[in-house]
Amino acid sequence: MNERKKQQACRVVLVGRPNVGKSTLFNRLAGSRRAIVTPVPGTTRDVLEAPVEWQGAQFALVDTGGLFGRSEDPLHEEVSRQGLRALDTAALVLLLADGRDGCVPADYDLAKRVRQTGVPVLVVVNKVDDPASEVGVGDFHRLGFEPVFRVSAEHGLGVGNLLDQVISILPDSATRSAPAGKDQSEIAIAIVGRPNVGKSSLVNLLAREDRVLVSELAGTTRDAVDTVIRWQGRRLRLVDTAGIRRPGRVAKSGQVESASVAIARRAMARADVAVVVLDTSTGVTHRDAAIAGEAERAGCGIVCAANKWDLVKGRGAEFVKSFDQTIREELKFADYAPIVHLSALTGTRSQKLLELVERVDRARAAHVSTSDLNRFLERVTKRHPPSSPNKREVKFQYATQIGVKPPRFLLFTNAPMRLHFSYERFLKNRLRESFEFIGTPLEIQVRARRPPRGRRR
Ligand code: GDP
Ligand code: GDP
Repeated sequence: MNERKKQQACRVVLVGRPNVGKSTLFNRLAGSRRAIVTPVPGTTRDVLEAPVEWQGAQFALVDTGGLFGRSEDPLHEEVSRQGLRALDTAALVLLLADGRDGCVPADYDLAKRVRQTGVPVLVVVNKVDDPASEVGVGDFHRLGFEPVFRVSAEHGLGVGNLLDQVISILPDSATRSAPAGKDQSEIAIAIVGRPNVGKSSLVNLLAREDRVLVSELAGTTRDAVDTVIRWQGRRLRLVDTAGIRRPGRVAKSGQVESASVAIARRAMARADVAVVVLDTSTGVTHRDAAIAGEAERAGCGIVCAANKWDLVKGRGAEFVKSFDQTIREELKFADYAPIVHLSALTGTRSQKLLELVERVDRARAAHVSTSDLNRFLERVTKRHPPSSPNKREVKFQYATQIGVKPPRFLLFTNAPMRLHFSYERFLKNRLRESFEFIGTPLEIQVRARRPPRGRRR
């Protein structure tokens, strides 16, 4: 597919009468992405266009803005003729309407005109902010396009469903091969911890209304209730927060403990980074360790959030040191996880938390070149040669990174061996220091390598 065709194949155009919320939806979907003003071929009009990324697919979103609306009569012939020109290059039209007004004659007229272009259409009923405002939505089936989507552009509700549908309609070849900026990818975050440590308070703090990009209408059928927020131009997906909010629903009181581990496990299976929330006022327990252990097993990056820090404010540096020490002791295997002292109640250091999450996510996806890795190996083993539980003398010959998320390394040795756990730990710590693998689990595999025939070392 050539570039022009590709652009055309993934251009999604928003149309609708004035005030239905086109620019609100446009801004919500495009976020801080730079919108460009681009002329409509064959007219004197301009439209706004911005890239949108969803689940690894990209498309261009076009807001026809005033094209259908600046004149008193939204379907004034000249205006709509120009507006419809904007559809010439569309792969899909989102016909936006206002759920509060119900289906009005201008919606019918617009639907008729859009239908004539032959471009696929999704009807999107906006301003469905709560279940009460869904009453009039049924009317819109009369426009003759199925299914009818309900969203609240202002609050981000229902937008995830809509985007799923949009990318399923666009041709794969066009959306998938679009250049995806590395920094623009989404980070899936599981906020986990035992009951009452402050998980929902933290989710609510992060998902302040102005940051919410996507969440779901209560009572919709999606089982995972993710919230996607926008932070410094990135999308952060807070995974499965409903399950986390209501542990009581999956277990009776006595089972809540294990249920919280089970919920955490499910959330972490979909997450890049787990924020393990700890309660500073009650201290760190083996239950916290069990949850952090699940994060490590799931291969998630880990950030420890020592919450309710407001309750211990002013206790001095000694307290901070000893509290962090306790975290290190209880969560021994995850001693690489950065710690942030925060308060979900006051919002203190929530920015710091997100910065750490972002760094950990980057580290988890990092790749070290084979040459750097081998220089590292030579330097480290010179000072500390490998030890094996069976005390055989072994040498590392070669190392390479075989995977990311989390980073996985393969070491070749001259003879079969198992790494002593303390040596493995030593190597991982040196890898962390040398390549800034902050907060991410690392995996090391060892394999004996036969020398190539005819060569001896
Ligand atoms: P446009 O003319 O179609 O681009 O509409 P705008 O995006 O400018 O929105 C028109 C008005 O509707 C503004 O006052 C918005 O704040 C409001 N609006 C947009 N989306 C929603 C929504 O989901 N719920 C509610 N209650 N109001 C909305
Ligand atoms: P969850 O069960 O882990 O989701 O915990 P919640 O978010 O429901 O919080 C449990 C209790 O701790 C609630 O009473 C919150 O108001 C309180 N809480 C949460 N975060 C903080 C905080 O940072 N400081 C203080 N003082 N209380 C908090």
